[in-house]
Amino acid sequence: MKKRLPLRLLSCILLLFFALSACGDAAFLPGGKPKPALTGDDGTLSVHFLDVGQADSILLQSGTQSMLVDGGNVADSSLVVAYLQEQGIEHLTYVVNTHAHEDHVGGLAGALNVCTTDQVLAPIKEYNSKAFRDFSKYVSLQNKSITIPKPGDILPLGGATVEVLAPQTKYSDENNSSIVLKVTHGQNSFLLTGDAERQSEQDMLAAGVDLTATVLKVGHHGSDSSTTYPFLREVMPKYAVISVGKDNTYGHPQEAVLSRLRDAGVTVYRTGYQGHIVATSDGKTLHFTTERNRSLPTNPTETNGSGQNGQNGIPSY
Ligand SMILES: [Zn+2]
Repeated sequence: MKKRLPLRLLSCILLLFFALSACGDAAFLPGGKPKPALTGDDGTLSVHFLDVGQADSILLQSGTQSMLVDGGNVADSSLVVAYLQEQGIEHLTYVVNTHAHEDHVGGLAGALNVCTTDQVLAPIKEYNSKAFRDFSKYVSLQNKSITIPKPGDILPLGGATVEVLAPQTKYSDENNSSIVLKVTHGQNSFLLTGDAERQSEQDMLAAGVDLTATVLKVGHHGSDSSTTYPFLREVMPKYAVISVGKDNTYGHPQEAVLSRLRDAGVTVYRTGYQGHIVATSDGKTLHFTTERNRSLPTNPTETNGSGQNGQNGIPSY
């Protein structure tokens, strides 16, 4: 009996430790609402992949600085604004539009309507769509103008550093024109690729930029046109996040991409299944929290062979 007591004590201590760490790390409050942002510099970087359906919107926070990369579709504007308000953000140090397509620029006008900003980045200054014109209008209303960044540009973001990796050159295609950012925070890094496709990936490889990253935001919502093998081999991510809408008509993410990620041993998160996904870095460790379905297999090894996931209870989309 006497010999068993220390073991029991140890179990209790371990249980308490896990219970406390589970509470302390959660980026969401009970009920699924995100926890408000920390206003002081606690040395962390948090990267929020917002669930904006078949679109992209990523919020980064470190110390008192923040960056919004894309804003989803116009219809996502109120969701993005509500998320920023829940985080207590009234000022965005940077607003980045990776490229002019509506599923990336659409919600940015709404964000710029409620948040002031220091700098706005996009690969072009004009584009013939209402969504882009509205974005441009709200940039002007803040007496700011769009800056077109160059590869190698560095943007400090709290305790993190953001480097512009692409576009390496001018492309006629909007997707390949996507601004690609590498965010480094101590030993952790994030590669945010917008909708960059094969051509941009090849040009980044040819330019010899350091693509290695802990987390890859999978290009173009998991389309087979992106995340090529040579690119993935250079990035060597441990984790991937795919921003996709449930039941989207594009068939994203495509099985070929999921298969390449499986081959590379990458743990995959998907907004369509898991809602908002938050990665928190303390410079050494990286912790993921999801709005829902944390343990759902998002990249199962068994598929129905039709190019879509259809087994393990996971619907195709
Ligand atoms: Zn897109």
